Amino acid sequence: MDALSDFPFPVFVSTGGTERGRSVATRAAQAAQWLDQTVGMPTIPPLYVVNSNDWDAVATTPLYGMPHVDSDRVVVGQEPAAFWSTLTGVIAPVAGSDGLARLRQVYGEDLDLGGFADLLVCHELTHLAHGASWVEGAVGFWLKELAANLGLQGYVSEVEPQQLATLETVVEVVWAAPNEAWPIHDLARMKDSLTGDGSNYVWFEFGLQVLAKRLWDTAGAAALQTIITALRGPTLNFTQVLHMLADLDPSVAQTIQNWPNH
Ligand SMILES: [Zn+2]
Repeated sequence: MDALSDFPFPVFVSTGGTERGRSVATRAAQAAQWLDQTVGMPTIPPLYVVNSNDWDAVATTPLYGMPHVDSDRVVVGQEPAAFWSTLTGVIAPVAGSDGLARLRQVYGEDLDLGGFADLLVCHELTHLAHGASWVEGAVGFWLKELAANLGLQGYVSEVEPQQLATLETVVEVVWAAPNEAWPIHDLARMKDSLTGDGSNYVWFEFGLQVLAKRLWDTAGAAALQTIITALRGPTLNFTQVLHMLADLDPSVAQTIQNWPNH
C-alpha cells in the first residue's frame, strides 16, 4: 500500500490505485469539513482505498467493497465490488422499461455503479459523527444507517449537487421495483441481511436513502442535527424514535411504521 499526502487525515491506497484514491480522499476531506460545520466531527481516522488483494489486511468485514468505518479506520474498495453488478443483475429484469431507461441514462449501457459507490465515503464519515453511545439493538442499527444516509444526502445536496442524479436514480429505481429477490424485508432484521451477497442489505440502505432524501428536503440540516444529537445521547426506544422522526416529517415516521410499504 502507498500513503498519499496532502490530506487532513492519513490516506493509504493499494499500489496502482493512486488516482482513484486521491479522488475518494478529496471528496472525503470535503465531506468531513461539511459534516464538521453541520454537526461537529471527531478526528478523522486513516482512510484506506484498497483492492481485493489488500482488503483482508485492513477491512473488518469480509465482503469485498462494502464500505465501512470503525473508530480507527475508514475502508472503501478501489475496484467495483461484485455486489453492485449482482444488484443491477437482479434489478434490470424487474425495473420495467422506464426504470431501466433511467438507470441507463445515468449509469450507462453497462449500468456501472462505480460513480454511485464513490459517494458512499460520505455515509461512512457520518457514522463517525454519531459515535457509539447507543446500546446495540435493532432500532439503533437502522437509525444509524438513516443518519449516515442523511449525511450523504445533505453533503451531495449542498456541496456536490451535480452528483444528485448519480446518488438518487439507482436508489429510486430499486426501491420502486419488486423486492421478492431478497429474503429479508423486516426493518428490525436489517442487520441479518448482511449475510449473503450483500444485495439484500443494499436494498435496506436504499429504502432508508429514500427517507433520508425526504427528511433533507423537508427539514434540511436540522434533521441531521436532531438525529445525530439523539444518537449521541441515551438509547431511545422505537416509539421515541418515531416521535422524533414525526416531528421532522410525519410521512417518514409513517413509512417506518409501514415498512417496506411506502
Ligand atoms: Zn452505514
